[in-house]
Amino acid sequence: MINGFVDLRSDTVTQPLPEMRKLMEEAEVGDDVLGEDPSINRLQKIAADRMGKEAGLFVPSGTMGNLIAVLCHCRRGEEALMGNLAHTFIYEGGGVSAHGGVLVHTVPNQPNGIIKIEDIQVAIRPEDVHQPVTRMVILENTQNRCGGAVLSAEYTREVGKLAHGHNMLLHIDGARVFNAAAALGVDAKTLVDAADSVTFCLSKGLCAPVGSVLCGSEEFIRSARRLRKALGGGMRQAGILAAAGIYALENMVDRLTEDHKRARSLSEGLSKIPGIIMKDAVPPSNMVFASIDDSIPFSAQQIVERLKSEQVKIGIVGPRQFRMVTHYWFNDEDVDKTINAFKKVI
Ligand SMILES: *Cc1c(COP(=O)(O)O)cnc(C)c1O
Repeated sequence: MINGFVDLRSDTVTQPLPEMRKLMEEAEVGDDVLGEDPSINRLQKIAADRMGKEAGLFVPSGTMGNLIAVLCHCRRGEEALMGNLAHTFIYEGGGVSAHGGVLVHTVPNQPNGIIKIEDIQVAIRPEDVHQPVTRMVILENTQNRCGGAVLSAEYTREVGKLAHGHNMLLHIDGARVFNAAAALGVDAKTLVDAADSVTFCLSKGLCAPVGSVLCGSEEFIRSARRLRKALGGGMRQAGILAAAGIYALENMVDRLTEDHKRARSLSEGLSKIPGIIMKDAVPPSNMVFASIDDSIPFSAQQIVERLKSEQVKIGIVGPRQFRMVTHYWFNDEDVDKTINAFKKVI
């Protein structure tokens, strides 16, 4: 429960824990634009180690992390391949085109989150003065709009090999890469070892109040730091935020399997209600996607309103489709509460 509601709209609604707030209060800080914030430097080092990369850069949001990565990798007029359901394509305000003059070339996401290798192969432009240069490919793990689908290390490496063979770069939007790692029972770094750059989010399932970390080579992060400043993302005594991020990385990663377990319980309960159809028989990570069939006389919007009067908030992702995201603030009792609320309003 958060502020009296079971809030499943996103794992971004998680709040900083009392332990985080205490560490924030005590955080050692300095001017991070000058590279002098010890807490930020520590967070960036821990993050880079977790991703198996040389360096990290704290950024205010995942959107800025992805934007900086694309702007570092592509020149104006070059193109980035990504899924047609990629967060960077749908939910980042068209930033890579607006700020970087980068073309977005979409390739279909399959229901299991992947983009077919042969589809990527076909999308890569030949050497031809008429055509834009295909400079990079972006994968998303977990894939949000595909229901929190999880991409394997083997698949990611295959895409990396294909990209590098064409003088292209691979960026991973790993906003929820720790959820992917938890779902597969592997170290997050094995899921991003083929990537030239990766972003992950501290403020979703890991409960920190603000921020993402962009990781890659020392050289890449040097360019990324310049771009972050140019985009207005240079922060000063931001160690106060990093303190929560460090706590998040050290204490909140290993418990993500609990969120996945509750997503499965929620899904199982909802699947037994007549009229509700689940996207996946078993949710792959911490997201539950459900639709209502024609036997239900309400629109998605009406269902959301009715659930709200039962103190349950969920998201809408289609005319008759919902998204529910489990997180630290959603416990076993809330699972039952949500299922009962659905039974009542439908
Ligand atoms: C949340 C999210 C982001 C970044 O979002 P911000 O709100 O800008 O931090 C990027 N990619 C995916 C897949 C996400 O879910």
